[in-house]
Amino acid sequence: MSLLIVGTVAFDGLETPFGVRESILGGSATYIGISAGYFVDKVNLVSVVGGDFPEADIELLKEKNIDTEGLQIIKEGKTFFWKGKYHNDMNSRDTLETQLNVLESFDPLIPENYKDCKYLMLGNLVPSIQLKVLEQLTQRPKLVAMDTMNLWMGATMDDLKKMLKRVDLLTINDEEARQLSEENNLIKAAEKIKTMGPSTLIIKKGEHGALLFGKEQEIFFTPALPLQEVVDPTGAGDTFAGGLMGHLSQTDDISFSNIKRALVYASTMASFCVQKFGPEALVGLSSEVIESRKNELLSLTDLS
Ligand code: AMP
Repeated sequence: MSLLIVGTVAFDGLETPFGVRESILGGSATYIGISAGYFVDKVNLVSVVGGDFPEADIELLKEKNIDTEGLQIIKEGKTFFWKGKYHNDMNSRDTLETQLNVLESFDPLIPENYKDCKYLMLGNLVPSIQLKVLEQLTQRPKLVAMDTMNLWMGATMDDLKKMLKRVDLLTINDEEARQLSEENNLIKAAEKIKTMGPSTLIIKKGEHGALLFGKEQEIFFTPALPLQEVVDPTGAGDTFAGGLMGHLSQTDDISFSNIKRALVYASTMASFCVQKFGPEALVGLSSEVIESRKNELLSLTDLS
């Protein structure tokens, strides 16, 4: 079933207790796409890069089942750059630098053959760009999912609220959920966010797993896989979203019980992402390795 993802394709500068990378492949759409590409034959991607973006990285995306027809290349521009530094506990990070570059004037042009997508994942981006994507679709997708961040809860809050009214599923982390809802308790926060638009909400709690809140007040939880070494958490949230949407579009089933299964795949994919810098640990996976890790995750809470 057709899956369209929109987000950033970037160069990231990363500092973690395990090392430093000056400029490596990153971006919300990159992680979502690579992760989802393990579940579906084709992931349609809409994003923008500059003339400095290497052909080899475009080839890598293609190899991972990503269709790059919707990737605009602005020859005279520079690719979006983000630099972050993680604290020792790896749960929090500081943004050291954000260079919007080609993202500053990004006008997402959805190719004709992407416009009737059944599943849409709007990765972290300025909400006004996310809105422009929705406006170009020829039919309403079966599921519109969105990820966002605290950066958009300031000056662009009005656009973010407009977007929220139009999405079915929102993924957000616990800190952002508290900020968006102005509620400290996550159950109350989830209820309040659901009144803003999304009928299904996923609150990501990093190494402490993720909570799923369904339409009918159902709640489900998946742990994150406990790992001895977390090298770089960048992109874990996006990789999570890729696993989630990859499974949902592969199975074409958006029942609550299937969203629960998708959540387990989401957590499984995120567990790979954090083991190496950037998307490195994600590129060499196989369905067998993913299934085996999913079973490892499930066994954590299996009482039989
Ligand atoms: P995550 O760790 O899941 O929050 O995702 C990190 C990725 O998001 C990095 O690869 C960055 O390139 C990208 N990113 C960082 N800041 C932004 C932003 N303001 N808008 C869109 N993408 C961003």
